Amino acid sequence: MKKVKAVSLDVTGTLVEGRSVKRFWDHLIPAAYASEKHISFNEAYTRVKKKYSMVSRDDVRWYLPEYWLRELNINMSLENLLEEFRRGVAFFPDVAPTVKRLSSQYVLIVSSNLSSILLQTILRDFKEHFSRVFSSVSTYCLPYKTAEFYAKVCSETGFSPGEFLHVGDSKTYDFLVPRIIGMDSILVKRYSNPEQQYEAESLEKIFSSVVPAST
Ligand SMILES: [Mg+2]
Repeated sequence: MKKVKAVSLDVTGTLVEGRSVKRFWDHLIPAAYASEKHISFNEAYTRVKKKYSMVSRDDVRWYLPEYWLRELNINMSLENLLEEFRRGVAFFPDVAPTVKRLSSQYVLIVSSNLSSILLQTILRDFKEHFSRVFSSVSTYCLPYKTAEFYAKVCSETGFSPGEFLHVGDSKTYDFLVPRIIGMDSILVKRYSNPEQQYEAESLEKIFSSVVPAST
């Protein structure tokens, strides 16, 4: 941790429970569609999932709530939908104290492939702790966190890759890809036991030695 000046955090599966994000796509959108079309939830769910499957995950539109509201002709306001979503977002218990502590010692950023609008909604109460929030889809039109994405994040924040530590739960996109450009990375395993040196069970464990800067 000696050289590290900036810490980058993934969101889904790292700060918040994956299923609470999935709820947006698998419950809230189909429910809004059902009420719009006056059909049952199950029928709406089947139709919406079929529509989802027609857009490739390599296409950034897939990740944009506003695209789906248009595509499905849902007139419910996106703000209402996002507010309902926010109320169900479940943060892991170590997030609030760790994020607060980290932001007093490092430049703290978010690197996620959720769209900006979902990130703003999820992180509303943590806004002051993150100096930047990077969405691969909204900021750079990239559906995944590629080496190009991380290189852009480094150059925009003014830190070299060697000064960055990225933490996330995807072995490919949070652990291996950042290392391609020379960032340090740690894989967080919220649901299984860490087995390797580069794995940890929580943010708390990774940053337990970080003490808050004195004010
Ligand atoms: Mg993740």
